[in-house]
Amino acid sequence: MTSAQERKIKQTGCDARFDNLTRQLYATDASIYQIEPIGVAFPKSAQQASLVIRAAADAGLSVTPRGAGTSLVGNAIGEGLIIECSRYNRQITELDLEKRSVRVGAGVVLDQLNDFLKPRGFCFGPDVATSSRATLGGMIANNSSGARCPIYGTTADHVISLEIVMADDRIEKIGPTHDSLHAERTRIGNLIRAASAEMTECWPPGLIKRWPGYGI
Ligand SMILES: Cc1cc2nc3c(=O)[nH]c(=O)nc-3n(C[C@H](O)[C@H](O)[C@H](O)COP(=O)(O)OP(=O)(O)OC[C@H]3O[C@@H](n4cnc5c(N)ncnc54)[C@H](O)[C@@H]3O)c2cc1C
Repeated sequence: MTSAQERKIKQTGCDARFDNLTRQLYATDASIYQIEPIGVAFPKSAQQASLVIRAAADAGLSVTPRGAGTSLVGNAIGEGLIIECSRYNRQITELDLEKRSVRVGAGVVLDQLNDFLKPRGFCFGPDVATSSRATLGGMIANNSSGARCPIYGTTADHVISLEIVMADDRIEKIGPTHDSLHAERTRIGNLIRAASAEMTECWPPGLIKRWPGYGI
C-alpha cells in the first residue's frame, strides 16, 4: 500500500483503516483461508461506498464487500480493500404490513430484523444458523437459508428490490419495479439462454438450493 493509495481512499471521507491490527482482524472469515487485506473501509451509505469503490479502482486496488464474515468459502476476504458494510448501515425503515415489506440496510443482522418484526407478528423466513451475526447484505449475496428452506425458500425469494453499487461506482436500483441495467440484463439473459440445457440438467426438479446459492 502506498501513501498515495491510502490518501485516495481517505480523501473520500469514508472511515478507513490501514493499521496492522485492523488488517489482521479482517484477514479471516469463517473459512479455512487467510488473506491480509491492504485496508478496510467502513462506508455509511451507498453514496460513500460508491466513492470509496471509485477511489480503490483509481488506486489500482481490488475490493471485497463484507458483512459479518461468517461465510465458509473465503468470499469475504481479499488482498485489496475490504468494504465493510456491517459497522454502519443498520437502519430498518419503510415497514409496510399490508405489503409485508420492509427496507433494511446492508448491515442489518438477521436477529435484529426478527426482533423488530416479532412484535408485529412477522419474521424473515430464511433462518440461517448464524442469525445472531449474519447481515442481510451477506445473506443476499450468498442467497442464504436455513432449516426452514423447504417452506420459506432462500433469501432471494424474499428480496423485492435492491439498491446496489456497481464496480464502476454507479448506484442502481434493481427489481421488477425498476427499469435499470438494460445492457447487463441482456448480457446475463443471453448467458442463461445459452446454458439453459446444462442448467436444467444440473438443477433437477424439486431441488431447492445448491451451494453457493445461485439458481444455476
Ligand atoms: C457455524 C455456521 C453455520 C452456518 N449456517 C448457515 C446456514 O444455515 N445457511 C446458510 O445459508 N449459510 C450458513 N452459514 C454461512 C454464512 O453464515 C451465511 O451465508 C451468512 O448469511 C453470511 O452472512 P455474512 O453477513 O456473514 O456475510 P459475509 O461472510 O461477510 O459475506 C458473504 C458474501 O457476501 C458478500 N457481501 C457481504 N455483504 C455484502 C454487501 N453489502 N454487498 C455485496 N456483497 C456483500 C461478501 O463479499 C461475500 O461474498 C454458516 C456459517 C457458519 C460459520
